[in-house]
Amino acid sequence: MLRRRTLGRRIHRVRILSPATIRSPAPRAFARLMRGRRIARVGRRGKYLLIDLDGALTLIVHLRMTGDLAIAPAGAPLHPHTRVLFALGGEELRFVDQRRFGHMDLLPAARVHHLSGLRRLGEEPLARGFTLTRFRPLLRGRRGMLKSLLLRQDVVAGIGNLYADEILFQARLRPARPVESLRPPDVARLHGAIRAVLRRATDGLARSGRPAATLLDARGRGGACPRCGRALAAARVAGRGTYYCRACQR
Ligand SMILES: [Zn+2]
Repeated sequence: MLRRRTLGRRIHRVRILSPATIRSPAPRAFARLMRGRRIARVGRRGKYLLIDLDGALTLIVHLRMTGDLAIAPAGAPLHPHTRVLFALGGEELRFVDQRRFGHMDLLPAARVHHLSGLRRLGEEPLARGFTLTRFRPLLRGRRGMLKSLLLRQDVVAGIGNLYADEILFQARLRPARPVESLRPPDVARLHGAIRAVLRRATDGLARSGRPAATLLDARGRGGACPRCGRALAAARVAGRGTYYCRACQR
C-alpha cells in the first residue's frame, strides 16, 4: 500500500514537527538532503522501513512501538502525534508516532547495513519467501523456551511481546515449551500463526478478517481465554509479562 503510493514520487519538501525524531543527520541537513529526491524503493525489515532515494541515500524509519507512516491529502488536518511530513505534491507522507520512540536516519545507501540493530535482523516473516521450508531450519538445534526464540530479532524479525503471546495462543503452544520438543505439526502451526498474526497486525483487520478469538482482546477484558473461557494464566517467560491458556496451549 505504502509502496504503491510512494514509489517514483518526488519529495518536494520536508517539515519536521518533532526534531527529536530525526536522529541523523541534524534535522536541518536531513530536510535539505531529502528535498527533491525521488523514492526509488520501499522495503521493510522487521520494525524498520527502508526508503531508498535517488542519489544513493536511504531513509531508515525505525517504527518502534507506535510509529506509522501514512499518506494523506496535502493540507488535511494533522493527527496530533504527527512528527514529520514529506510533501509529495498533492499528498503528504506523514510519520505519526504517539509515544515518540520512533526515529529516522538518512544514510548513504552503502552504509545502511552497518547501522547497529539492522545488521543482525533475522528473517522477514511477511516476505513471500518465508515459507515453512525456510522456517524449519531456524529451529533446528535450538534449545530454550519457545517464547524467547520468537522474541529474538535475529531469528525472525519484528515480533514483540504482545504478538509473541498472540502467535503462541493461535498456534496452541505454551510460551515456556522447549523449542526442542516441537514436533512437525507444531512447527507448521507456529509458522502459520506467525504469518497470520503479523499480517493482521500490518494490514489492519479489514482485509483478512478478524479471527474468532484473539488473546490480545481477552487481555483487556478481564483475562478469560477466548477459546475455552477458563482464566488466562499470567507468568513471566523470557523476562516478559506473558499470558496464555493452560487448557488450550500445550
Ligand atoms: Zn483456553
